[in-house]
Amino acid sequence: MENINMFCYQCSQTAGGKGCTKAGVCGKDATLAKLQDNLIFALKGISAYLYHAGELGYRDKELEKFISKSLYSTLTNVNFDSASFVRAGLDAGRINIDVMRLLKKAHIESFGEPEPAKVSTGTKKGKGIIVTGHSLKLLDELLQKTEGTGINVYTHSELLPAHGYPALRKYQHLAGNIGKAWYDQKDVFSEYPFPILAPPTAP
Ligand code: SF4
Repeated sequence: MENINMFCYQCSQTAGGKGCTKAGVCGKDATLAKLQDNLIFALKGISAYLYHAGELGYRDKELEKFISKSLYSTLTNVNFDSASFVRAGLDAGRINIDVMRLLKKAHIESFGEPEPAKVSTGTKKGKGIIVTGHSLKLLDELLQKTEGTGINVYTHSELLPAHGYPALRKYQHLAGNIGKAWYDQKDVFSEYPFPILAPPTAP
């Protein structure tokens, strides 16, 4: 396999119409490309947390500003200052803590302080819906809509912590958790004859 030093295909100047792999046609070097990739990776996580906090009505203008400013810095091929992207990467680490704190507050104030809980694995007889992703709001809305209908609701994989929140655990038809890691979800889902509900941010 070819040893690729960088891979950038973010603009129409990209080498061969495929991707700049040694150095950018625009002048971007491999170090800068990696620093930008690192920043984008961090922004994806920060954005997902902020999205879920926003669903519950919790917003933070400073965090939103950081995402916009950082994204813009990677889109415009005029800032080739690696030092500024090192600083942005470090800022992203700090912002990441801030956004997790915001989401934690949103979850606790919306659904109560989470506690250890026993969670069934596998499924029960009858109809069911599987909820995947990380949105407690989506799960809450589904539990409200399906209460008393005889439909069991299952969390998938990483939504397991939802069972710890009192305002979600109170639903008798929150029947359990299925699955393992998200990457094998295709195989897991094919084992069950249930519809899958996923938020837009689910992998
Ligand atoms: S931004 Fe630069 S390195 Fe990236 S694809 Fe365009 S020319 Fe290549």
